[in-house]
Amino acid sequence: MHNKSVAELARELESGKISSVELTREFLDRIKAEDSQYNSFITVTEDQAMADAKAADEQRAAGKAGVWTGVPFAHKDIFCTNGIATTCGSRMLANFVPPYDATVTANFRAAGAVCLGKTNMDEFAMGSSNESSYFGPVTNPWGRSNGEKRVPGGSSGGSAAAIAARLIPAATATDTGGSIRQPAALCGITGLKPTYGRVSRFGMIAFASSLDQGGTMARTAEDNALMLNVMAGVDPQDSTSADRSVPDYTATLNEPLKGLRVGLPKEYFSDQLSPAMEQQVRNAVKEYEKLGAIVKEVSLPHANLAIAAYYVIAPAEASANLSRFDGVRYGYRCENPQDLNDMYTRTRAEGFGGEVKRRILVGTYALSAGYFDAYYLKAQKVRRLIQQDFINAFKDVDVLMSPVSPSPAFVQGEKTSDPVTMYLEDIFTIAVNLAGVPAMSVPAGFVDGLPIGLQIIGNYFDEARLLNAAHQFQQVTDWHQKLPQ
Ligand code: GLN
Repeated sequence: MHNKSVAELARELESGKISSVELTREFLDRIKAEDSQYNSFITVTEDQAMADAKAADEQRAAGKAGVWTGVPFAHKDIFCTNGIATTCGSRMLANFVPPYDATVTANFRAAGAVCLGKTNMDEFAMGSSNESSYFGPVTNPWGRSNGEKRVPGGSSGGSAAAIAARLIPAATATDTGGSIRQPAALCGITGLKPTYGRVSRFGMIAFASSLDQGGTMARTAEDNALMLNVMAGVDPQDSTSADRSVPDYTATLNEPLKGLRVGLPKEYFSDQLSPAMEQQVRNAVKEYEKLGAIVKEVSLPHANLAIAAYYVIAPAEASANLSRFDGVRYGYRCENPQDLNDMYTRTRAEGFGGEVKRRILVGTYALSAGYFDAYYLKAQKVRRLIQQDFINAFKDVDVLMSPVSPSPAFVQGEKTSDPVTMYLEDIFTIAVNLAGVPAMSVPAGFVDGLPIGLQIIGNYFDEARLLNAAHQFQQVTDWHQKLPQ
């Protein structure tokens, strides 16, 4: 059963071939047997999951089951789960048990899905390799044949690795600068970052609030659609959530792609991309041409400014958001504080890891008097230009296609000594967040035996079109079905 998609598992449950209790047991056993190799889970909630599975079976017996009733999945450990530890990958929150559910968590609960636990992530979602987690790095299930350990990408590396290793069929994730798409690409699975505001951020621990967006990860586009059906929608608890109707994202998966206008941003097919990567991405685009798409080159003229703008704006917002972690109200507190200042200082010095501190320092600097205009204000102006680039591009095309990352999964430790090298990992994903548009990563081939992703970027609230495009691609390719050794 563990090789089946959410859609297939839902059908097995519906037909009575298997119960949620049996299914949940199977996945829990796999996590127990295999996850020591990957470290993709921070918390496994076995007892709660078995109780939820039993309740799901009872609901089904009572004739009250929906698609998700009894289907196992996991949450990235950034979503608050009532009564279950929510660490955000940080020592600061290692002992934090939220007294409430995130809206996303509550939605999956209401749908009857069975959460098996919380997946590992970069600390406070800052990173592209899952090496900044207080709970240790995550290992990519791919590329281990010669004894090397590769990163799964980040920050949602635990969710991506767990899905690739068949420990779970689907998981929630978040994307502030690429944290759904890049790990999805590096682990050979399918991920969707929705439009900013499409999914409520309530109870999703904040990193950079104008960029953060919850989204979906699974092996197939169809499963991403099933997830988004549960997650999307306006939420009175999040004033930035969009008050727009939510379509059934599975309803349009089978629309033919004939006439789909695809733009290839020329800035995303540049020197940063190895010839082998470029070849794979162009091959994927050819599949779309076979399906009737019309492909042309487009330009995002300010693309090369995205990393610089993001790495001012995101740290600036993070420095404000993370000021709440002070040892007073919840989370980590240092031992024997001498006075209030000592408590603040040592709590934050001991509770945060190196990358988080770097962001707080950079962000505080960028916001301080005398530097605000030069850095933060300038970055906001650049952000506006980048947004306009996308608005202009979508006057001519329906979707944009590009690589997700400049290279496939790299070896652990390879990029940890130089933060800028790590930040460059986000070169093709970050502009999307600055503009707020939706984008997907779809498995599109292999380079050096490692999976790579095709990025499909859409206009605002055009998730249904992205899912349709990804689903049609997955009907004529089988990259998303490949298994790590
Ligand atoms: N890699 C980017 C960063 O470190 C993006 C992270 C994310 O999307 N959460 O900020």
